[in-house]
Amino acid sequence: MIPLVDLKKQYATIKDEIKKEFDEVLDKQSFILGEKVRQFEQEFAKIHNIDYCLGCSSGTSAIKLALKAVGVGFGDEVITVPNTFIATVEPIIELGAKPVFVDVNSDTYLMNADLIEEKITPKTKAIVPVHLYGQMCEMDKIRKIAKNHNLFLIEDAAQAHLAHYNNESPGYYGDIACFSFYPGKNLGATGDAGAVLTNNKEFYDKMFCLRDHGRKKGEKYKHDYFGTNERMDELQAATLIVKMRYIKKWTRQRQAIAKYYVENLDKDSFKLPTINEKAEPVWHLFVVQVDYRDAYIEVLKKKGIMAGIHYPIPLHLQPALSWLGYKKGSFPITEKASERIISLPIYPELDIKELEGVF
Ligand SMILES: *Cc1c(COP(=O)(O)O)cnc(C)c1O
Repeated sequence: MIPLVDLKKQYATIKDEIKKEFDEVLDKQSFILGEKVRQFEQEFAKIHNIDYCLGCSSGTSAIKLALKAVGVGFGDEVITVPNTFIATVEPIIELGAKPVFVDVNSDTYLMNADLIEEKITPKTKAIVPVHLYGQMCEMDKIRKIAKNHNLFLIEDAAQAHLAHYNNESPGYYGDIACFSFYPGKNLGATGDAGAVLTNNKEFYDKMFCLRDHGRKKGEKYKHDYFGTNERMDELQAATLIVKMRYIKKWTRQRQAIAKYYVENLDKDSFKLPTINEKAEPVWHLFVVQVDYRDAYIEVLKKKGIMAGIHYPIPLHLQPALSWLGYKKGSFPITEKASERIISLPIYPELDIKELEGVF
């Protein structure tokens, strides 16, 4: 049996370290925004070569904090893609703004930079590229467009821990980059957690308040901003501190599995992932296109291999977003991909030997 991810296998390798960290937190009985969170923030910023990090309660909360920090609000438009998880747009809508979609590139399935400008209106406030599957978008092009039109640039890097584009990681090109530590992500917590990275001190200071009921440092019952509770807890930070010791190694292991797939999958049956020459992906998912997808998934299942689909329903065709007014045919590249893509198992603990003979 090869699952899509195997968290138990990973936990077995770090159990003692996690328990030691957890014990420290439990002995202290200090659970929220404490020393572990601060240590996590320093280390996570450092491995990405970005100045500031704030831990928060999920990837969704990270996106919300970022949008609020740059001032996205009622009546604004935010340009993003329909080929992503719904959490990319939930905070946009919650803040009273409207997501405006552009289609993706047919080869990378990532935001097509050439389609952005035609969607910019006087109401456009920000662009949210999504570094899907672990590959960063064409951030040089997208940043230029954002600069030319005075738009904020917020990266959804929920699947792109330690990814690079032109040797820079998320947080370098954008005003703010948003990460998720949902347990199945490349860096996963013991529950929900997220973080924002930024080189902008002003945005950092604002998000610092916004994640904790709008309070400035040291304030208890004075609220300078209208914030919410988006805080990270110490047990999540403790988990992430341990896993960050291995994240570079785990990323290399993912890259080795991706290499195996690229070298061994039959090119007549699979359309392999395309990598931009400037990008260094971290392979959160290994996504290929196949004919007769449903039948193929059954074939794999019989061989004990679990595949996934990311994502079977594009956002513009989601019932919950029908009021946006898009219809079938609005984004043909995304739609066509959504009918043909499958995600093959890829995780650091996956032994390549298990794949030999299957692929
Ligand atoms: C996981 C994910 C999110 C949301 O993260 P949560 O921690 O689950 O809130 C947002 N965007 C993308 C692309 C994701 O994969």
